[in-house]
Amino acid sequence: MTAKANLDIHAIPEEGTTSSHLPSGRWPHHDMLDLDNCRRPDIEVVLTLADRMREILDRRIPRVPALRGYTIVNLFYEPSTRTRVSFELAGKVLGADIISVSTNTSSVVKGESLIDTVRTLRAMRSDAVVMRHPMAGAPYLAAQHTDASIINAGDGAHAHPTQALLDLYTMHRSIGDIAGKKIVMVGDIAHSRVARSDLWGLTTMGAHVVVCGPPTLLALGMRVSDRPSHAENALPPVTIETNIDQAIEDADVVMALRLQSERQEGGLLPSLHEYATHYQVTAERLARAKPDHLLMHPGPKNEGIEIAADVAGGSHSIIEDQVTNGVAVRMALLYLLSGRIEPEEVTELST
Ligand code: ASP
Repeated sequence: MTAKANLDIHAIPEEGTTSSHLPSGRWPHHDMLDLDNCRRPDIEVVLTLADRMREILDRRIPRVPALRGYTIVNLFYEPSTRTRVSFELAGKVLGADIISVSTNTSSVVKGESLIDTVRTLRAMRSDAVVMRHPMAGAPYLAAQHTDASIINAGDGAHAHPTQALLDLYTMHRSIGDIAGKKIVMVGDIAHSRVARSDLWGLTTMGAHVVVCGPPTLLALGMRVSDRPSHAENALPPVTIETNIDQAIEDADVVMALRLQSERQEGGLLPSLHEYATHYQVTAERLARAKPDHLLMHPGPKNEGIEIAADVAGGSHSIIEDQVTNGVAVRMALLYLLSGRIEPEEVTELST
Protein backbone atom coordinates (compact mmCIF):
# COMPACT_ATOMS: atom_id res chain seq x y z
CA MET A 1 0.00 0.00 0.00
CA THR A 2 1.36 3.43 -0.83
CA ALA A 3 1.17 6.43 1.48
CA LYS A 4 -1.19 8.07 -0.97
CA ALA A 5 -3.51 5.11 -0.92
CA ASN A 6 -3.52 4.97 2.83
CA LEU A 7 -4.41 8.65 3.03
CA ASP A 8 -7.11 8.40 0.44
CA ILE A 9 -10.62 9.00 1.66
CA HIS A 10 -11.65 5.54 0.43
CA ALA A 11 -8.80 3.73 2.11
CA ILE A 12 -9.97 3.37 5.68
CA PRO A 13 -7.40 1.32 7.58
CA GLU A 14 -8.90 -1.83 8.94
CA GLU A 15 -8.64 -2.54 12.62
CA GLY A 16 -5.77 -4.78 13.54
CA THR A 17 -3.84 -4.08 10.37
CA THR A 18 -2.06 -0.98 11.51
CA SER A 19 1.24 -1.47 13.22
CA SER A 20 2.75 -4.28 15.17
CA HIS A 21 4.83 -6.08 12.51
CA LEU A 22 7.03 -3.17 11.54
CA PRO A 23 10.52 -4.20 10.50
CA SER A 24 13.33 -2.01 9.18
CA GLY A 25 11.47 0.64 7.17
CA ARG A 26 9.79 1.81 10.34
CA TRP A 27 10.02 5.48 11.25
CA PRO A 28 12.12 5.16 14.39
CA HIS A 29 10.38 7.51 16.82
CA HIS A 30 7.62 6.74 19.29
CA ASP A 31 7.67 10.24 20.83
CA MET A 32 8.68 13.63 19.44
CA LEU A 33 10.57 15.38 22.21
CA ASP A 34 13.19 17.30 20.23
CA LEU A 35 15.14 17.11 16.98
CA ASP A 36 18.49 16.36 18.62
CA ASN A 37 17.93 12.65 18.07
CA CYS A 38 16.46 12.97 14.57
CA ARG A 39 18.70 12.01 11.71
CA ARG A 40 18.46 13.62 8.30
CA PRO A 41 16.48 10.70 6.77
CA ASP A 42 13.94 10.89 9.63
CA ILE A 43 13.39 14.57 8.91
CA GLU A 44 13.21 13.96 5.16
CA VAL A 45 10.39 11.47 5.70
CA VAL A 46 8.44 14.13 7.61
CA LEU A 47 9.03 16.71 4.88
CA THR A 48 7.96 14.40 2.06
CA LEU A 49 4.90 13.21 3.94
CA ALA A 50 4.03 16.83 4.79
CA ASP A 51 3.82 17.52 1.04
CA ARG A 52 1.14 14.86 0.74
CA MET A 53 -0.62 16.19 3.81
CA ARG A 54 -0.53 19.69 2.38
CA GLU A 55 -2.26 18.36 -0.71
CA ILE A 56 -5.04 16.90 1.49
CA LEU A 57 -5.28 20.15 3.43
CA ASP A 58 -5.76 22.11 0.21
CA ARG A 59 -8.68 19.95 -0.94
CA ARG A 60 -12.18 21.42 -0.95
CA ILE A 61 -13.16 19.01 1.80
CA PRO A 62 -9.97 18.33 3.74
CA ARG A 63 -10.91 15.14 5.55
CA VAL A 64 -9.43 11.64 5.38
CA PRO A 65 -9.93 8.75 7.79
CA ALA A 66 -6.27 7.83 8.22
CA LEU A 67 -6.40 8.28 12.02
CA ARG A 68 -9.95 7.20 12.64
CA GLY A 69 -10.21 5.70 16.11
CA TYR A 70 -6.95 7.36 17.21
CA THR A 71 -7.26 9.63 20.25
CA ILE A 72 -5.08 12.67 20.82
CA VAL A 73 -5.13 14.92 23.88
CA ASN A 74 -3.77 18.46 23.73
CA LEU A 75 -2.45 19.16 27.23
CA PHE A 76 -1.35 22.78 27.44
CA TYR A 77 0.00 24.25 30.66
CA GLU A 78 0.96 27.45 28.83
CA PRO A 79 -0.89 29.74 26.41
CA SER A 80 -0.92 28.86 22.74
CA THR A 81 -2.88 29.79 19.64
CA ARG A 82 -1.06 28.46 16.58
CA THR A 83 0.34 25.24 18.00
CA ARG A 84 -2.78 24.13 19.85
CA VAL A 85 -5.17 24.94 17.02
CA SER A 86 -2.95 23.43 14.37
CA PHE A 87 -2.70 20.14 16.26
CA GLU A 88 -6.48 20.18 16.62
CA LEU A 89 -6.94 20.78 12.92
CA ALA A 90 -4.28 18.23 11.99
CA GLY A 91 -6.04 15.58 14.08
CA LYS A 92 -9.46 16.47 12.68
CA VAL A 93 -8.33 16.44 9.05
CA LEU A 94 -7.02 12.90 9.60
CA GLY A 95 -10.19 11.77 11.34
CA ALA A 96 -8.73 11.41 14.84
CA ASP A 97 -10.57 12.24 18.04
CA ILE A 98 -8.81 15.21 19.55
CA ILE A 99 -9.53 16.77 22.90
CA SER A 100 -7.94 19.96 24.20
CA VAL A 101 -7.26 20.46 27.89
CA SER A 102 -6.05 23.90 28.89
CA THR A 103 -4.64 24.60 32.29
CA ASN A 104 -3.05 27.70 33.71
CA THR A 105 -2.24 26.07 37.01
CA SER A 106 1.47 26.12 36.38
CA SER A 107 2.35 26.36 40.07
CA VAL A 108 0.95 22.89 40.69
CA VAL A 109 3.18 21.32 38.12
CA LYS A 110 5.23 18.84 40.08
CA GLY A 111 6.44 15.43 39.10
CA GLU A 112 3.63 13.36 40.54
CA SER A 113 0.76 15.42 39.25
CA LEU A 114 2.16 15.39 35.75
CA ILE A 115 2.79 11.67 35.89
CA ASP A 116 -0.70 11.09 37.24
CA THR A 117 -2.18 13.21 34.49
CA VAL A 118 -0.53 11.35 31.65
CA ARG A 119 -1.31 8.00 33.26
CA THR A 120 -4.94 9.03 33.61
CA LEU A 121 -5.07 10.09 29.99
CA ARG A 122 -3.61 6.77 28.92
CA ALA A 123 -6.09 4.91 31.11
CA MET A 124 -8.76 6.62 29.01
CA ARG A 125 -7.08 5.11 25.91
CA SER A 126 -5.40 8.23 24.63
CA ASP A 127 -2.92 7.30 21.92
CA ALA A 128 -0.95 10.56 21.86
CA VAL A 129 -0.53 13.51 24.20
CA VAL A 130 0.57 16.85 22.77
CA MET A 131 2.10 18.67 25.67
CA ARG A 132 3.19 22.26 26.31
CA HIS A 133 4.74 22.94 29.67
CA PRO A 134 6.67 25.83 31.26
CA MET A 135 9.34 23.49 32.62
CA ALA A 136 12.10 22.23 30.37
CA GLY A 137 12.11 18.45 30.40
CA ALA A 138 8.49 17.93 31.46
CA PRO A 139 7.56 16.01 28.27
CA TYR A 140 10.57 13.73 28.79
CA LEU A 141 9.30 12.89 32.26
CA ALA A 142 5.82 12.28 30.89
CA ALA A 143 7.20 10.00 28.17
CA GLN A 144 8.85 7.80 30.80
CA HIS A 145 5.50 7.14 32.44
CA THR A 146 3.15 6.37 29.60
CA ASP A 147 3.18 4.34 26.45
CA ALA A 148 1.08 6.97 24.67
CA SER A 149 3.19 8.97 22.23
CA ILE A 150 4.30 12.25 23.78
CA ILE A 151 4.73 15.23 21.49
CA ASN A 152 6.59 18.18 22.90
CA ALA A 153 4.68 21.33 21.90
CA GLY A 154 7.17 23.52 23.80
CA ASP A 155 8.89 22.90 27.14
CA GLY A 156 10.18 26.04 28.82
CA ALA A 157 13.07 27.54 26.89
CA HIS A 158 14.24 24.09 25.86
CA ALA A 159 12.60 22.76 22.71
CA HIS A 160 9.75 23.12 20.26
CA PRO A 161 10.39 20.39 17.70
CA THR A 162 7.18 20.68 15.70
CA GLN A 163 7.84 24.39 15.13
CA ALA A 164 11.30 23.46 13.87
CA LEU A 165 9.85 20.82 11.56
CA LEU A 166 7.36 23.29 10.13
CA ASP A 167 10.12 25.85 9.70
CA LEU A 168 12.21 23.28 7.83
CA TYR A 169 9.24 22.29 5.72
CA THR A 170 8.41 25.90 4.88
CA MET A 171 12.01 26.55 3.77
CA HIS A 172 12.06 23.27 1.86
CA ARG A 173 8.85 24.20 0.00
CA SER A 174 10.19 27.61 -0.91
CA ILE A 175 13.86 26.99 -1.68
CA GLY A 176 14.31 23.22 -1.83
CA ASP A 177 17.41 21.75 -0.23
CA ILE A 178 18.69 24.06 2.52
CA ALA A 179 22.17 22.50 2.68
CA GLY A 180 24.70 25.33 2.51
CA LYS A 181 22.04 28.06 2.75
CA LYS A 182 22.62 30.90 5.15
CA ILE A 183 19.84 30.99 7.72
CA VAL A 184 19.96 33.86 10.20
CA MET A 185 17.99 33.88 13.44
CA VAL A 186 17.73 37.29 15.05
CA GLY A 187 16.46 38.03 18.54
CA ASP A 188 16.15 36.44 21.93
CA ILE A 189 18.05 33.25 21.24
CA ALA A 190 18.74 32.55 24.92
CA HIS A 191 15.09 32.13 25.88
CA SER A 192 13.81 30.68 22.63
CA ARG A 193 12.86 27.02 22.45
CA VAL A 194 12.18 27.59 18.75
CA ALA A 195 15.79 28.66 18.21
CA ARG A 196 17.13 25.59 20.01
CA SER A 197 15.06 23.10 18.04
CA ASP A 198 15.68 24.99 14.81
CA LEU A 199 19.42 24.79 15.46
CA TRP A 200 19.25 21.02 15.59
CA GLY A 201 17.02 20.71 12.55
CA LEU A 202 18.82 23.25 10.40
CA THR A 203 22.30 21.94 11.14
CA THR A 204 21.19 18.34 10.62
CA MET A 205 19.97 19.40 7.17
CA GLY A 206 23.32 21.05 6.45
CA ALA A 207 22.39 24.73 6.66
CA HIS A 208 24.84 27.43 7.71
CA VAL A 209 23.21 28.89 10.80
CA VAL A 210 23.95 32.36 12.12
CA VAL A 211 22.44 33.51 15.40
CA CYS A 212 22.28 37.21 16.14
CA GLY A 213 21.23 39.23 19.14
CA PRO A 214 22.58 41.32 21.96
CA PRO A 215 25.16 39.38 24.01
CA THR A 216 22.74 39.13 26.94
CA LEU A 217 20.25 37.26 24.76
CA LEU A 218 22.58 34.74 23.17
CA ALA A 219 22.30 31.29 24.66
CA LEU A 220 24.71 30.08 27.27
CA GLY A 221 26.43 26.96 26.02
CA MET A 222 26.23 28.12 22.42
CA ARG A 223 29.08 26.66 20.39
CA VAL A 224 30.97 28.57 17.76
CA SER A 225 31.67 26.67 14.52
CA ASP A 226 35.46 26.69 14.75
CA ARG A 227 35.61 25.69 18.41
CA PRO A 228 34.39 22.13 18.82
CA SER A 229 32.97 21.11 22.15
CA HIS A 230 32.43 17.67 23.56
CA ALA A 231 30.07 18.81 26.25
CA GLU A 232 27.04 16.58 26.60
CA ASN A 233 23.86 18.15 25.27
CA ALA A 234 25.86 20.97 23.70
CA LEU A 235 23.98 22.72 20.95
CA PRO A 236 25.25 22.15 17.42
CA PRO A 237 27.91 24.60 16.21
CA VAL A 238 26.75 27.89 14.71
CA THR A 239 28.11 31.29 13.82
CA ILE A 240 27.44 33.97 16.41
CA GLU A 241 27.14 37.59 15.31
CA THR A 242 26.07 40.48 17.49
CA ASN A 243 25.93 42.98 14.62
CA ILE A 244 22.65 42.54 12.75
CA ASP A 245 23.85 44.14 9.53
CA GLN A 246 26.74 41.73 9.27
CA ALA A 247 24.55 38.80 10.27
CA ILE A 248 21.99 39.52 7.54
CA GLU A 249 24.58 40.03 4.79
CA ASP A 250 23.80 37.56 1.95
CA ALA A 251 21.26 35.65 4.01
CA ASP A 252 18.93 33.23 2.25
CA VAL A 253 16.49 33.22 5.15
CA VAL A 254 16.05 35.65 8.03
CA MET A 255 13.99 34.54 10.99
CA ALA A 256 12.98 37.10 13.61
CA LEU A 257 12.31 35.83 17.12
CA ARG A 258 10.12 37.42 19.78
CA LEU A 259 11.58 38.75 23.00
CA GLN A 260 10.48 36.05 25.45
CA SER A 261 9.79 38.48 28.28
CA GLU A 262 7.86 35.80 30.19
CA ARG A 263 11.15 33.92 30.60
CA GLN A 264 13.57 36.81 30.99
CA GLU A 265 14.94 38.07 34.22
CA GLY A 266 15.26 41.86 34.47
CA GLY A 267 18.27 43.83 33.32
CA LEU A 268 18.99 42.03 30.07
CA LEU A 269 18.08 44.99 27.89
CA PRO A 270 18.36 48.73 28.50
CA SER A 271 14.88 49.24 27.00
CA LEU A 272 12.58 47.93 24.29
CA HIS A 273 13.27 51.06 22.29
CA GLU A 274 17.00 50.41 22.45
CA TYR A 275 16.48 46.79 21.41
CA ALA A 276 14.29 47.79 18.46
CA THR A 277 16.86 50.35 17.35
CA HIS A 278 19.67 47.81 17.23
CA TYR A 279 17.95 44.52 16.41
CA GLN A 280 14.63 45.10 14.69
CA VAL A 281 14.42 43.36 11.32
CA THR A 282 13.61 46.20 8.92
CA ALA A 283 13.45 46.68 5.15
CA GLU A 284 16.67 48.66 5.27
CA ARG A 285 18.48 45.83 7.01
CA LEU A 286 16.95 43.15 4.80
CA ALA A 287 18.35 44.96 1.77
CA ARG A 288 21.68 43.31 2.72
CA ALA A 289 20.23 39.82 2.39
CA LYS A 290 20.05 37.94 -0.92
CA PRO A 291 17.57 39.59 -3.31
CA ASP A 292 15.26 36.57 -3.12
CA HIS A 293 15.58 36.09 0.65
CA LEU A 294 12.74 34.79 2.77
CA LEU A 295 11.50 36.32 6.00
CA MET A 296 10.11 34.08 8.72
CA HIS A 297 8.77 34.42 12.27
CA PRO A 298 7.34 31.65 14.44
CA GLY A 299 4.71 33.95 15.96
CA PRO A 300 3.31 35.57 17.92
CA LYS A 301 4.91 38.70 16.47
CA ASN A 302 5.49 41.95 18.26
CA GLU A 303 5.56 44.27 15.29
CA GLY A 304 7.60 47.38 15.89
CA ILE A 305 9.90 45.51 18.30
CA GLU A 306 11.65 42.53 16.72
CA ILE A 307 10.12 42.99 13.27
CA ALA A 308 8.86 46.00 11.31
CA ALA A 309 5.21 45.79 10.26
CA ASP A 310 5.89 46.53 6.59
CA VAL A 311 8.34 43.64 6.16
CA ALA A 312 6.19 41.25 8.23
CA GLY A 313 3.43 41.77 5.66
CA GLY A 314 5.79 42.30 2.72
CA SER A 315 6.61 40.28 -0.37
CA HIS A 316 9.49 38.30 1.19
CA SER A 317 7.43 37.24 4.19
CA ILE A 318 6.35 33.60 4.37
CA ILE A 319 5.02 33.92 7.91
CA GLU A 320 1.49 32.88 6.97
CA ASP A 321 2.82 29.92 5.00
CA GLN A 322 4.53 28.81 8.20
CA VAL A 323 1.13 28.74 9.89
CA THR A 324 -0.55 26.72 7.12
CA ASN A 325 2.40 24.39 6.83
CA GLY A 326 2.26 23.84 10.58
CA VAL A 327 -0.99 21.93 10.10
CA ALA A 328 0.47 19.76 7.30
CA VAL A 329 3.63 18.97 9.26
CA ARG A 330 1.66 18.05 12.37
CA MET A 331 -0.58 15.81 10.27
CA ALA A 332 2.54 14.07 8.97
CA LEU A 333 3.98 13.69 12.43
CA LEU A 334 0.79 12.37 13.99
CA TYR A 335 0.46 9.85 11.20
CA LEU A 336 4.04 8.69 11.59
CA LEU A 337 3.78 8.42 15.38
CA SER A 338 0.51 6.52 15.16
CA GLY A 339 2.37 3.51 13.72
CA ARG A 340 -0.31 3.21 11.03
CA ILE A 341 2.15 3.96 8.29
CA GLU A 342 3.50 0.84 6.67
CA PRO A 343 7.28 0.27 6.55
CA GLU A 344 7.17 0.23 2.73
CA GLU A 345 5.56 3.66 2.78
CA VAL A 346 8.33 4.99 5.00
CA THR A 347 10.91 3.49 2.66
CA GLU A 348 9.13 5.06 -0.30
CA LEU A 349 9.00 8.44 1.42
CA SER A 350 12.68 8.35 2.26
CA THR A 351 13.86 7.68 -1.29
N1 ASP B 1 5.16 30.23 19.63
C1 ASP B 1 6.56 30.03 19.90
C2 ASP B 1 6.74 29.30 21.22
O1 ASP B 1 5.79 28.83 21.80
C3 ASP B 1 7.38 31.26 19.82
C4 ASP B 1 7.02 32.34 20.79
O2 ASP B 1 6.20 32.16 21.70
O3 ASP B 1 7.60 33.43 20.64
O4 ASP B 1 7.85 29.17 21.69
